[in-house]
Amino acid sequence: MNVPLFTLNRQHEKLMDELMKATLEVIKSGKFILGPQVSEFEEKVADYLGVKYAVGVGNGTDAISIALSAIGINPGDEVITTPFTFVATAETIAMLGAKPVFVDIDPDTFNINPELIEERITEKTRAIIPVHLYGQAAEMDRILEIAKKYDLFVIEDTAQGIGATYRGRKLGTIGDVGTFSFFPTKNLGALGDGGLVVTNNEEIFKKVKSLRVHGSPRKYYHEYLGYNSRLDTLQAAYLIVKLPHTDEWNRKRREIADFYNENLKDVVRVPREKEGNYHIYHQYSIRTEKRDELRNFLNERGIGTAIHYPIPLHLQPAFSYLGYKEGDFPEAEKAAREVLSLPVFPELTEDEKNYVVEKIKEFFRR
Ligand SMILES: *Cc1c(COP(=O)(O)O)cnc(C)c1O
Repeated sequence: MNVPLFTLNRQHEKLMDELMKATLEVIKSGKFILGPQVSEFEEKVADYLGVKYAVGVGNGTDAISIALSAIGINPGDEVITTPFTFVATAETIAMLGAKPVFVDIDPDTFNINPELIEERITEKTRAIIPVHLYGQAAEMDRILEIAKKYDLFVIEDTAQGIGATYRGRKLGTIGDVGTFSFFPTKNLGALGDGGLVVTNNEEIFKKVKSLRVHGSPRKYYHEYLGYNSRLDTLQAAYLIVKLPHTDEWNRKRREIADFYNENLKDVVRVPREKEGNYHIYHQYSIRTEKRDELRNFLNERGIGTAIHYPIPLHLQPAFSYLGYKEGDFPEAEKAAREVLSLPVFPELTEDEKNYVVEKIKEFFRR
């Protein structure tokens, strides 16, 4: 049997007619840049998330860059974040000339450990970017408390967390700004690149909206230096088709996670959903010291797996100029050695789930 880590084919087969219809509508309208589907999607997704303003942008990386620019991050500023995330979270900080300052993670949730944030705050600290890794909320209450005390902005990197909640509130809507990605493999994915910035702050909203079109609130008038980063009309049209399915897809991911938890808890360290969190399992990542052997074993038996992420950001060559060394963030480093993501997507079949569990148990019985 072959069990892919991830596939969109099964989802797209079911939605094919609607997607084709949406494609034709956009082609016929001729409005490829900021066509009416973009604002329609922005309204629908703002409503879904329960937030005042949503602005569609080119991708999830640009969403973070634009959010950082919108809150006024300048060269020399410091922004606190986690080293255990996709590179975009810290790359965007660095590309603005600001300094990413890393803080180690909580080994239970893989998210930034709020108890370690205060000791990293300096005169230059301007913001904190918690990442809701794998689809589970970071500890927002603690983070907001610290941000308030030191007058810092909070940008939630919610690329992996659309539809997840923290004490009943949707992720991305809790801090000053939330950023999302619609990269095809995310829980809500486009058929290409796409991203979103959300906020309840009108001033930030206006700035984000103009930043995505070269900092120009009206044509050929440029208030700020900006970006060329708009959500594509076609992608918005596809996202309108897919958005209503998000909750059901997330629910199915949770069912698969429950099944894995139940069947694997005695052989590996399974993910833990913290009280107050609604985890949407963008990734279902187990931990084991035998990670690499297990991965090979599963690969030989047709089961797709992945490592999110094999090298924490403070040890990446691109960030060597920051001067971090091995041992600086022991929990992130340990997680990088031990995590293994298993197939978890809504259309995974009973047989496939059973096969994954059976093979993992077989590995540990040998
Ligand atoms: C996917 C992802 C991004 C970047 O999104 P793109 O749309 O690929 O640019 C940023 N942060 C995290 C945590 C991600 O998973």
